[in-house]
Amino acid sequence: MFLSLLGNRRLCHPGHGLRIVISPKTRGRRAAAEKRINASHNIESKLSNWKRARKWGKAIYLHIYIYIYDVVQSLIIERYPERLAAPKAHAINPRSLEILRQFELGEKHVRQLGTSRDDSSSVNFLTNLCEEAIGRLPYERMDPAVLDDTPEMIHNIPQPALEQELSNFIAKDPNVTLVKGFSIHAVEQTENEVIATIEERLTGQLHQTKSRHLIACDGRRSKVRELLGIESESEDSDQTMMTIHFNANLRPVVGDRVGMLYWIMDPVAAGFIIGYDLDGIQVHISQVDVEEHPVESWTEDMCRAKIRGSIGKNDVPFDILSYRPWVFRRQVAFTFQEGNIFLAGDAAHSFPPTGGLGLNCGLADVHNLAYKIALVHRGVATSSILSTYTAERRGVADSYSKQSVKNGKEIFALLQSLKTAGVEDVIQARKNMMAALANPAQRKRVEAGIEGQREHFDNLELHIGYVYGATKPPPHASHYSPKFVPGARLPHAWISFPDQLSPETEATKRSSLPREPVDVSYIKEFDADQVRACQWSTLDLCGPDSWTLILGQEQQTFNITLLQKHCSAIGVTLNIWRLGDDFEIVRQSWFADEVVHGGGVLVRPDQHILARVTAESDGEDVIAELNKHLGI
Ligand SMILES: Cc1cc2nc3c(=O)[nH]c(=O)nc-3n(C[C@H](O)[C@H](O)[C@H](O)COP(=O)(O)OP(=O)(O)OC[C@H]3O[C@@H](n4cnc5c(N)ncnc54)[C@H](O)[C@@H]3O)c2cc1C
Repeated sequence: MFLSLLGNRRLCHPGHGLRIVISPKTRGRRAAAEKRINASHNIESKLSNWKRARKWGKAIYLHIYIYIYDVVQSLIIERYPERLAAPKAHAINPRSLEILRQFELGEKHVRQLGTSRDDSSSVNFLTNLCEEAIGRLPYERMDPAVLDDTPEMIHNIPQPALEQELSNFIAKDPNVTLVKGFSIHAVEQTENEVIATIEERLTGQLHQTKSRHLIACDGRRSKVRELLGIESESEDSDQTMMTIHFNANLRPVVGDRVGMLYWIMDPVAAGFIIGYDLDGIQVHISQVDVEEHPVESWTEDMCRAKIRGSIGKNDVPFDILSYRPWVFRRQVAFTFQEGNIFLAGDAAHSFPPTGGLGLNCGLADVHNLAYKIALVHRGVATSSILSTYTAERRGVADSYSKQSVKNGKEIFALLQSLKTAGVEDVIQARKNMMAALANPAQRKRVEAGIEGQREHFDNLELHIGYVYGATKPPPHASHYSPKFVPGARLPHAWISFPDQLSPETEATKRSSLPREPVDVSYIKEFDADQVRACQWSTLDLCGPDSWTLILGQEQQTFNITLLQKHCSAIGVTLNIWRLGDDFEIVRQSWFADEVVHGGGVLVRPDQHILARVTAESDGEDVIAELNKHLGI
């Protein structure tokens, strides 16, 4: 998919998936914008309208959700008229939901769609869906305590449903032109312009677009990456996998063993089922023995046998909707930038789904990139800020990719540990499995192996704990700790606002908050008081198009006026929130301690800390950090 952004003043945002959403800054403008939607479906007219509107542009190829604030004219080009129906991603992690919230992209509505918390909070290990349950683990952090670390608990929703939600935002935005059925053909760039040649797939006709920047989100086999000759670090694996997309009502089959994932141990169907919707849509993923069953030889009947085997009963009706082979490998591009062209999402990095990290990583890529591009378009930052994109995001993608491969290798080794590995006779392999499970010592080993998978299914530190600029990956995927260091996501704490705000606060700061409070009433364990206490997060203080200074009440020495004057001179919007005056911490007192003792933090538009304000700070040091980041 490819997008061009024009005339941009304040842009920002989250990417991933397949569409780009661009939104005007103000509600009034948004309403006016909605009225101006051009109903034309004529691609030529869309392209020519876009060309006429273009002042400065940026093009994005691929499959990305970008949300751009204010007047940014963008062109998105998607190769296919419709997305694949196969669901792929389901786990939308806390960070992605925090990003959707920051950009008011309907995170509350997304939570109402998809898989319920009850249905999705476990991972089951079974011989097959009807027979023996061998173990169960929690699926990611869905306990109420996780809300001490994030305002947004993970949510599971099939990728097409999420993409549809985001496309609804795009459809309403007159700053975005989305054309489908076009494919990238060639790309070239000068210092200030990217020229893309795109092919209309139906007619073979070529068109050219010119833009200032281009973000390529064209997936794992990215044509843009290929055209630019960007190589990737990868570990090839000869392990071929098969995804079978099927439709069945599994609820009566699984009974009370509901869960997001079902790992099937039976060698007839060893692999896992993602239960996107237990009443309907599922996929089964398994390793393929290509010696015995080359992928070309697969038939629908073979898929049916796998699904029957994983269900464990012959009388459960189901339909095979599709089946598709893929290779289990990780791949991370050596750079995510070539001049004014950027790679994001799977185009930049792809890894196996064992971890549920791919789509989430792509969204965070664009969250990191978009505000930087916006600042360059507005003339606030020089293009040197753009080189921080690879520097910051590549390390995160690398750690995600390695964790996903590690998870996959360990869990498939576990499936093979039931004395079934290398046994070609499936009936014999099944007997071995049953004998192994009947043997107390062997069963204990299997149960310990399942216990060893906990980290695989709890990635909170990977989701919200990474630090841009860190030289080492997080030591453990699950062990999240809040960090008040430059590069870290601003730690979350629940906050409240005084009933009476000063007129200045009301007018300026409040307008940068999301329109609606967080709603945690979906946590059945919470009483009304607890729900009321969890309405606003420290992350809400950070508007997507502003910089945020959070200060402790006792911070006296820091020269705020100096910083304010500087920001206003260079065109940076700065919001200052003072603990005790402008907001209170509701629960997590450690946040207050950090801010009070450390003085405060200056936070970037993507909610990551730029600099700490110390008690000794005179303002000049913070200004120097800001200027360094902006490249001025
Ligand atoms: C079974 C499975 C489960 C998964 N589960 C999770 C999960 O739970 N959580 C998670 O975070 N991730 C998960 N993932 C990974 C996730 O699906 C991917 O990371 C995500 O789809 C990547 O999105 P993307 O937009 O970067 O690329 P893609 O989804 O590949 O989209 C690329 C887009 O670009 C378009 N395109 C391609 N070439 C061109 C061209 N030349 N010109 C114009 N357009 C083009 C394509 O048509 C497509 O629309 C899972 C993946 C699988 C397979």
